[in-house]
Amino acid sequence: MNVLLLGSGGREHALAWKLAQSPMLGKLFAAPGNPGIAEHATLVPIDPADHRNVVDFCLKNSVELIVIGPEAPLVDGLADNLRTMGFGVFGPNRIPAQLEGSKGFTKDLCARHAIPTARYARASDRLAAEAALEDFGLPVVIKADGLAAGKGVIIAETMEEAQAGLASMFDGGFGSAGSEVVIEEFLTGEEASFFVMTDGVTAVPFGSAQDHKRVGDGDTGPNTGGMGAYSPASILTPDLETKAMDEIIRPTLEALAEQGTPYSGILYAGLMLTPDGPSLIEYNARFGDPECQVLMMRLESDLLELMFAVAKGRLAEAPPPRFSPSPALTLVVAARGYPGAAEKGGPIGGLEKAGGENVKIFQAGTASENGVLVASGGRVLNVTALGANVAEAQRSAYAAAEAIDFPTGFFRRDIGWREIAREKQ
Ligand code: ATP
Repeated sequence: MNVLLLGSGGREHALAWKLAQSPMLGKLFAAPGNPGIAEHATLVPIDPADHRNVVDFCLKNSVELIVIGPEAPLVDGLADNLRTMGFGVFGPNRIPAQLEGSKGFTKDLCARHAIPTARYARASDRLAAEAALEDFGLPVVIKADGLAAGKGVIIAETMEEAQAGLASMFDGGFGSAGSEVVIEEFLTGEEASFFVMTDGVTAVPFGSAQDHKRVGDGDTGPNTGGMGAYSPASILTPDLETKAMDEIIRPTLEALAEQGTPYSGILYAGLMLTPDGPSLIEYNARFGDPECQVLMMRLESDLLELMFAVAKGRLAEAPPPRFSPSPALTLVVAARGYPGAAEKGGPIGGLEKAGGENVKIFQAGTASENGVLVASGGRVLNVTALGANVAEAQRSAYAAAEAIDFPTGFFRRDIGWREIAREKQ
């Protein structure tokens, strides 16, 4: 079967690596891809935003399955257009992708179906938002409604900060994503990411992870797209996972199916583990990046078989996903300056000797310039290792990262600290 994978990050490199192991695979194409993905796929210079071009390419190249990596094309309705043309698609249609595309959509759905989540208010102008603030204590959470690449959330400790946050959103600081806001009660607890694979009817747990959002050691400094992750998140115990399936995931999927817009693909739930049980912080309509890298490292099943079963609405007939019990840890190597303006063009060497049987180096923001691999984005490499425990996976990942020759790169020194502290108990 020929497959087209859309995207160009470390997440897509991990997906390409796993898809390429499937005996069901014919040709793997990736658009636009990156030099790491090119080791497993033929790169095609198509912009996923150009739906007509994607469809034409799939028709000409007998593509049977399109795997959509990032959120923007999902929220933009690419899956709908491909499904209308009869293609198999891994990723939700436009309306169910609103679970990620509009925080207000998700909160209203939770309210209608009594799904545990923080108390909230929606507002589409500044005066209404300021009035709504009065009903919340401090700290208070303010979110741009639309997609903001992980940057549309302000946690305000004082009312002045909250008002300044509202002002920046309504002044266009977040583009159209901020034309409406959601104000939320602040939840306390530890966060975990929970993944579910679903064809709209059948839903199977697809692993858990925890990530590190801040750029600096000890979870300090500005937020990033993620500086590292590990899987599984032991804090999400089997009991809590069952609770999350029963109280959060299934009611969400049933609600979407009932309204005639079933969700198909990966549903990624960001959960806060509160003393009362898991509470939904957010949904994403795709794999996380870098969480996908640790999930793929642990996945023992045939990814293509599962994705195709989802696309055909036959997940119930597929063997349940199997994961290695060994944990995986991924370390993001970023270019100097990230998450601000990152230094581009820095040469990268030594990847072959740094990787190994239990260590994979997935590429994210890389490019090939005159045959030399260089940094082309903020997050550049994801050094991913499997180990008998998280401490061992961490040692392997750091040893590999040290062996890479990337003078303009940097990484956090403490990825996995929470889980390693638990392992020591
Ligand atoms: P991303 O997709 O990058 O995770 P996002 O912009 O979709 O980010 P959220 O995940 O909703 O935004 O929020 C980002 C972070 O803010 C969360 O991971 C969490 O740490 C914090 N946060 C969000 N909502 C709450 C809340 N109600 N209480 C406490 N913390 C919160």
